[in-house]
Amino acid sequence: MDASQTNVTLRSLVQTARLQLQTHYPAPEAGALADAMCRHLFGYSRTEVVLYGDRTVSDTAGWQQMLDELMRDRPLAYITGEAEFCGLRLHVGPDVLIPRPETEELVDWILRDNPEGPTSRRMLDIGTGSGCIAVAVAVRRPAWHICACDVMPGALATAARNAEDIHADITCLSYDILSDTPFPAADSLFDTIVSNPPYVTEAQKAEMQPNVLLYEPHTALFVSDGDPVVFYRHIARFGRSHLKPGGRVYVEINETLPDQTRQMFLDNGFGDVRLRKDINGKWRMLRAGL
Ligand code: GLN
Repeated sequence: MDASQTNVTLRSLVQTARLQLQTHYPAPEAGALADAMCRHLFGYSRTEVVLYGDRTVSDTAGWQQMLDELMRDRPLAYITGEAEFCGLRLHVGPDVLIPRPETEELVDWILRDNPEGPTSRRMLDIGTGSGCIAVAVAVRRPAWHICACDVMPGALATAARNAEDIHADITCLSYDILSDTPFPAADSLFDTIVSNPPYVTEAQKAEMQPNVLLYEPHTALFVSDGDPVVFYRHIARFGRSHLKPGGRVYVEINETLPDQTRQMFLDNGFGDVRLRKDINGKWRMLRAGL
């Protein structure tokens, strides 16, 4: 069937897409992508396609275009412009990484350590990207004052838009953590500093999937093989002078460098440094207190 023909049934449209996507993606992912396409373009869930599959659609040009993009490895989140994170629907674009499930685990660690209470806390998210961490914490801890910074103007604009959509009062600031310049806020002391910085080494590039390599922003992903913990060094130094007493730093880390990253915090005066694995059993998170 040619998907660009008019008046095709939903059932055959989804089935054809599923088969085509299976030539490029593992079968479960192909099925999920075809279902997501249908939900996004026509508003029908998977169950509704089963129930109302005989209904026809006349304009399938958008459908074919989306299918072509998926066949070229473009991530669905960039095609639709949205991604889910911690139960929230967020805007994403080519300037920001698509939020990952492991980052939800980092948010969870912060929330568990800081139960909801009457005290307002100050948090800074360094390299906020889409703003996913800042926004997810803001929703669950509405009394907190949250700052989010990034070096990329496009990322800051996306983070600000996501904050606005959920009516969170997040201060978005342009700041380069590698610059060692003064932080541009009147109050630059925080209880919590969090970051998911670039940490994938050039050597690890070879193992990455084309959907990541071709479409996600390299400045948000990669560090040099010669200094793979460069961001942690700057975050640790920043943390030492910008954490309130009892404050903590939470970072996502490269699963192959847990000891080196931990050492970086110890060398910079942090005494209580803990590592944590993600649900896939990989060293993925670190928490450091002074
Ligand atoms: N976990 C991401 C990936 O493997 C990388 C995120 C990052 O560099 N901060 O694609």
